[in-house]
Amino acid sequence: ALVYLNGAFLPLEQAQVSVLDRGFLFGDGVYEVIPVYGGKPVELAAHFNRLDASLRGIHLINPLSRAEWRAVLRQLVNNNPDGDQTLYLQVTRGAPPARDHRFPDPATTAPTVFAQAKPLKPRDPQVLAQGAAVVLCDDVRWSRCDIKSISLVAAVLARQAAAAQGAEEALLVRDGHVTEGSTSNYFIVTSNQQLITPPRGPYLLSGITRELVMTLAQAAGLTVTERDVTVDECRAAAELWLTSSTREVLPVTRLDGAPIGDGRPGALWQKLDSCYQRYKQTLTAD
Ligand code: PLP
Repeated sequence: ALVYLNGAFLPLEQAQVSVLDRGFLFGDGVYEVIPVYGGKPVELAAHFNRLDASLRGIHLINPLSRAEWRAVLRQLVNNNPDGDQTLYLQVTRGAPPARDHRFPDPATTAPTVFAQAKPLKPRDPQVLAQGAAVVLCDDVRWSRCDIKSISLVAAVLARQAAAAQGAEEALLVRDGHVTEGSTSNYFIVTSNQQLITPPRGPYLLSGITRELVMTLAQAAGLTVTERDVTVDECRAAAELWLTSSTREVLPVTRLDGAPIGDGRPGALWQKLDSCYQRYKQTLTAD
């Protein structure tokens, strides 16, 4: 399948960028991941809005209009129109003639724009049946986690630490509060059936799936409270879910090796997961 790079569609092997690209040298760029089911993207407008917010956060002008983005993404999706896919798109501050932290002159250095469609693997039925394991990890990231930056080394270290412990995800702890996963947001259900997720702010990326799950929960008559959650509250939760574009809503049944609730995916998770699956049936071509 072809990928998109700076105005052209070409085979992946031919898609090359300069070693002076600021994405390579500084991690100076932002990205998006958009799930696509049967050719229909999830919450495309919300993803475009978040891309704009991320670009604003790093003082870069979006090099493509929404119509141009839609055309690029449509062409990538059409390589595999019936399959489930994820769209990856990335914008960096381009490749100036020399390495220099200061921004290059935008008149002479154009951003590098890359986009690719990849098959979206279905979620592991065993994880859905038994629930995932997560571990807690110190959040050593910066204080602009609301920007979907490609500078991901702290997330890489946390996710690898989780993997080394046989866990699906690392939940990140800052000042005694669990902010989000290294590549996901999370919700807890308290012992008295309250649904809680941490609020938007500089210490977490506001997931499109998180927003969607809040909307679906409210439509199902549930109240979602956005507030900080402590480590102890997570450990004592009746249910814990991860949300992300590729995981959808995933039940967590072990935290640092100890069971969450009764150690099985919970009833409220089952309800929200069905809402999410039904929502996917209602998607329309963008
Ligand atoms: N938080 C972080 C740090 C992420 O990297 C991601 C996604 O990769 C999310 C949250 C979830 O965001 P979304 O639901 O938009 O995939």
